[in-house]
Amino acid sequence: MKALVYTAPRRMELQDLPRPEPGPGEVLIKVEAAGICGSDVHGFRGLSARRKPPLVMGHELTGRVAALGPGIVDVPLEQQVVVNPLLPCDTCELCLSGRSYICPNRKLIGMDLPGAFAEYVTVPASSLYPLPEGMSPTVGTMAEPLANTVHIIRHNVFGLVQGVAILGAGIQGLLALQMVRVAGITPRISIDIEPHRLEIASRFGAKVIINAREQDPVAIVREATKGRGVDLVIDAVGADVTRQQAIAMAAPGGRVVFLGLNEVMSELDCQAIVTQELTVHGSYAYSPHDFLTALDLLASGRVEVASWLEEAPLVDGQRVFEMLADRPGEHIKAVLIP
Ligand SMILES: [Zn+2]
Ligand SMILES: [Zn+2]
Repeated sequence: MKALVYTAPRRMELQDLPRPEPGPGEVLIKVEAAGICGSDVHGFRGLSARRKPPLVMGHELTGRVAALGPGIVDVPLEQQVVVNPLLPCDTCELCLSGRSYICPNRKLIGMDLPGAFAEYVTVPASSLYPLPEGMSPTVGTMAEPLANTVHIIRHNVFGLVQGVAILGAGIQGLLALQMVRVAGITPRISIDIEPHRLEIASRFGAKVIINAREQDPVAIVREATKGRGVDLVIDAVGADVTRQQAIAMAAPGGRVVFLGLNEVMSELDCQAIVTQELTVHGSYAYSPHDFLTALDLLASGRVEVASWLEEAPLVDGQRVFEMLADRPGEHIKAVLIP
């Protein structure tokens, strides 16, 4: 089968690999669409310690069931499915407490196991969800990234939330923006440095858009909220500067969620965190429940993604990765089609 193999920083090679055989409890999926995540691009640029060559990346995937491994009897062949690529152990204390997304033994398809930038991939049968009626395989790949923001809303929105600011209008930022709209939070403020992304953000209901190259985001957020700041800040970038801005624009008692992970270490204003009793916390991945909710939101059209996804053939993988790595202002999300 054809597979796109990450062989070295900035190098994606199309190779012929043996088609994998599904083991016990697994199914073989013929990949129909596989989205390129920001973390894959980060890996492509050689910046991710967790993605080491040689590796077939790709964890946002839909496809058809092509073969069943030993012991699997209840999965229809040819069924179109969405795959939840996060594989927890299901036996540790965290899994048993419902927090499988931070299971220390978890594995991610496309990082710890061969991924979906290939014609075929094997996955556990327990990770499959039927592709909702009428949903394209390309749109189905967005269940995984959307599940991350469903997770944020589920853990941070209680009662009346006055104002939200989202730093970054890339894929996660734009999905988060749609999720806070679903949650009914106003005003919604979107911050980025690329005009094209901010334009999409305003289409998705951002009342205030801030180009951080030209304006001071903290000052504008304060101005837009009569000086008080916003109850919820989501940093979908994860740089020193965005983390610092996130804390500076939170209202007293507010919540700051760190989702993006560009820098490992950052200096933060702990004076503000302590004296304004801010809740600052990281958000990672999603539960199976979040994944299912994301799929429902896409199926019902409450979250719209089709208009800003770009499809490209798997064989063009090298070019598409270069495009996403080098021109992020023009391209937000690409989905590879084998
Ligand atoms: Zn991802
Ligand atoms: Zn576990």
